[in-house]
Amino acid sequence: MPTLPVLVLNSGSSSIKFSVYEASDGERTKLFEGAVDGIGTDQGKFWIKDAAGTKLIDETPAVPNRDAAFKLVTDAVSKSPFPYPVAIGHRMVAGGPKLLQHQRITPEALDEMERRVAFAPLHSPIAIYIMRQAERLFPGVPNFVCFDSAFHSTIPEAAARFAIPESYVEQGVRRYGAHGISYESIVYQLGRELPSRLIVCHLGNGASITAIRDGRSVDTSMGLTPTGGIISGTRTGDIDPGVMLYILRDIAAEYPTTNAAADQLETIVAKKSGLLGVSRRSNDMRDIREHLSRGCPHCGMAVAEFTYVIRKFIGAYHAVLGGLDMLVFTGGIGENDTQTRIDICAGLQHLGIQLDPARNNVRGSATISAEGSPVEIRVIPPAEDLLIVNHVVRLLES
Ligand code: ADP
Repeated sequence: MPTLPVLVLNSGSSSIKFSVYEASDGERTKLFEGAVDGIGTDQGKFWIKDAAGTKLIDETPAVPNRDAAFKLVTDAVSKSPFPYPVAIGHRMVAGGPKLLQHQRITPEALDEMERRVAFAPLHSPIAIYIMRQAERLFPGVPNFVCFDSAFHSTIPEAAARFAIPESYVEQGVRRYGAHGISYESIVYQLGRELPSRLIVCHLGNGASITAIRDGRSVDTSMGLTPTGGIISGTRTGDIDPGVMLYILRDIAAEYPTTNAAADQLETIVAKKSGLLGVSRRSNDMRDIREHLSRGCPHCGMAVAEFTYVIRKFIGAYHAVLGGLDMLVFTGGIGENDTQTRIDICAGLQHLGIQLDPARNNVRGSATISAEGSPVEIRVIPPAEDLLIVNHVVRLLES
C-alpha cells in the first residue's frame, strides 16, 4: 500500500480540531495537529504543531463565524509542509436512525444528515457545513464520515428506547449517545487486554459514561442529544422532564414563538447549566478547582454534584454488566484531574473499585488501581483521530 496522507476534521460547537496522518501498511504516523477555538469571538485561538510538538502556528485571531474558522484551517493545510490529502475523515455525533455505520459521504448521505440536525442541533450544522466545504475546497478527494452513534448502535432496544408515544419512536427519537469514537478508540487501544465487563468514563467538557460488554456498547449515559446523561461543562445531564416544562413556562411569555422559546430553553439546559451553572464561575474544571481552593462554596457544590452523578451511573452500569472488570477514565478531566478520580472512586470500594493514591498521581496513560483491587482502574487518553484514519483507510480499500 502506498503512503496515504489523510486529513481528519473534528468540529465541536465552538471549535474545529484537525490532524494530518500518513497511513501506510499497518503504520499510522501523525504529522500535524491543530485547532481553531473560540468561534464567534474576536479573540479565538489558532494553533498547529508538528509531530515533535513544535508550534508552527500559535495565534489569537478574530474568529467571528465558522466560515472564518474553516478558512484559517484550509488556508494553512493547503500548502507546504502539509501533504495534499488523498482522503478526508470527518467526525459527526449522530446521523439519525438511517445512518448508523461509518461511510463514504455521498450527496444522499449529506441530505439525510441535514434532515436529522434536530437530533444534535449544536453539533450537526457545523459538521455538515465543513463536509460540504471540504468537498468544494479539495475537489476529487473522497470524504468519509465516522459517527459517534455507530459505536452505540449495539445498545439493546430496552436501553435505547425512551418511554414516549410510538409516533416519536418512529421519527427516530431514541438514545444515540455520543463520544462513540472515543469509546471505540479505548476498546482498540486495550486490544488483547480488553476485559469482558468494562465501564469507560469520558470526562471532558462534554462528559458521558458507557457500559461495554465484550467490546460492544450496551448502554451509554447521553441520550438523543449530548445534553442528557451525567453533568457536563455546560449541560444539565438527565433532569426530570418537569424541570424543562417549568423553565419553558417561566420563559414563554418573553418569546414571540414556540420555537424561539425552545431555542432559549436549549441555551439554558445546554450552554448555561452543568458545571458552569452550578459553580457560577466556569465550565472548566481547572478554574473550578482554583476557586474551590479559595473556598468558593458553589464550586464545591459543582464538583460534588458532578462526582455524585458519576458514582450513581457507575453503580447502575455495574448492575447492567453483572459486575465489573475494568474502569477507564478518559477525556480532559478524566486524564488530568486526579482529585475527581479520587472523589469518584472513594464511594465505590464496595464494588471492588480500589484506587491507589500514589499511582493516581499521574497525567496520561497509567494503571491506577491498588494492588489486588478486584477492578482494574486505568487512565487512557482517547485516540479518536487515529480511529477515524483507520476507518478511512479500511473504507478506501473496500
Ligand atoms: P472536549 O473534547 O469535550 O472539548 P476535553 O476532553 O479536551 O474536552 O476536555 C476539556 C476539559 O478538560 C476542560 O474543560 C477542563 O475542564 C478539563 N481539563 C483539562 N486539563 C485539565 C487539568 N489539568 N486539570 C483539570 N481539568 C482539566
